[in-house]
Amino acid sequence: MTADVIVCGLGPAGRALAHRCLAHGLSVTAIDPFPDRYWTATYGAWEDELPGWLDPAAVAVAVDRPTAWGSDSHRIERRYTVLDTMRLHDCLGVDGARVIADRVIGIDRGSVRLRSGAQVRGARIIDARGIGRSPALAEQTAYGVIVAADRSETLFMDWRPDNGAHPDAPPSFLYAVPLGGDAMLLEETCLAGRPALDGAVLQDRLEHRLRSRGIELSGSEPVERVRFPVQGGRPGRSRFGAAGGFTHPATGYSVAAALAAADTVAAGASAWPVTARAVRALRIAGLRALLDLPPVDIRLFFDAFFALPPELQHAYLSGRTDLRGTVDAMRTLFAGLPPRLRRRIAAATLRIPLRSQLRMASAIIG
Ligand SMILES: Cc1cc2nc3c(=O)[nH]c(=O)nc-3n(C[C@H](O)[C@H](O)[C@H](O)COP(=O)(O)OP(=O)(O)OC[C@H]3O[C@@H](n4cnc5c(N)ncnc54)[C@H](O)[C@@H]3O)c2cc1C
Repeated sequence: MTADVIVCGLGPAGRALAHRCLAHGLSVTAIDPFPDRYWTATYGAWEDELPGWLDPAAVAVAVDRPTAWGSDSHRIERRYTVLDTMRLHDCLGVDGARVIADRVIGIDRGSVRLRSGAQVRGARIIDARGIGRSPALAEQTAYGVIVAADRSETLFMDWRPDNGAHPDAPPSFLYAVPLGGDAMLLEETCLAGRPALDGAVLQDRLEHRLRSRGIELSGSEPVERVRFPVQGGRPGRSRFGAAGGFTHPATGYSVAAALAAADTVAAGASAWPVTARAVRALRIAGLRALLDLPPVDIRLFFDAFFALPPELQHAYLSGRTDLRGTVDAMRTLFAGLPPRLRRRIAAATLRIPLRSQLRMASAIIG
């Protein structure tokens, strides 16, 4: 039996793709060692990134104008959502697919080899197996606790230096979001590092920061630990989600981008027009710039970022195919930075490969 589509991996991206392929009337085989296992991560997304077909039940909480702190406080003119991970999983139903609990060990033209020795055939095969960890890849790490919802306002990013870290140490920020009901996640996060900060360091910093804000922890709070690569993955028709290069290198987000692109891929089109590839090159340059910045300058960088007009913030954070918007956002951000930061950012941006620069030029012109 040959399926129209084989989806390898049922994380949020693979499950969304399998779900939408079924909605498009395709026959689907989906393979994951643990196909029914619920995800445990807390996934956040901007509300305007979520596709119209997604059941609103997948959203646990929506927050208007969350706050970001660099050296100053900024209100972000956008609605931020925290997804209900279990409901998201259930909303992306794969009833009607042939679901195989096994591990993919090889993908060949037209067929997939499984650890059990079985082989399955498909007209299209899409790898959504995520990204494996490697010391060569920058990672995002975080340590969070779940507390009562009245303990903090919603903070998309809070870079204030009250977490006890030495000014020259790699920086981290506080992410504070409601989870729905009476719960709130307070998470000390290393946005990207190679190597990224260790969980124990982030735990110390979180406890220090919360203590300095009068929030005492009992030690029995549920904990969330985060570690995943923000690099890796390769764009292309045969890969999707993190495996397909959907992770925004400067934020680590990919879930909403994968949900938004699932219909395009299900319909057999490419999720990687030339503009998306050019945006990806710019975003990677943005990550390089972030990794190059001296820790003390990170707050200035984010002050400049969150002072951008909302449409430019939107373009940089969410415009996966919006090359003009991304270029405008980066240009305006650059102009708003102190001169010494500009020099560093210019150096990182100049290291964009020539092929990508040409692609950008032709996409902007044409
Ligand atoms: C705690 C935490 C919090 C996060 N928060 C956010 C957030 O707020 N917003 C956001 O956008 N992103 C967030 N991320 C990043 C997030 O992991 C990824 O964005 C997302 O999980 C990527 O989804 P994916 O489906 O592409 O890959 P994965 O989630 O990695 O899924 C890969 C799937 O492939 C399966 N698989 C692996 N190997 C094989 C194999 N050989 N054969 C078959 N199947 C296989 C795995 O079992 C898994 O089900 C967070 C990550 C963590 C860890």
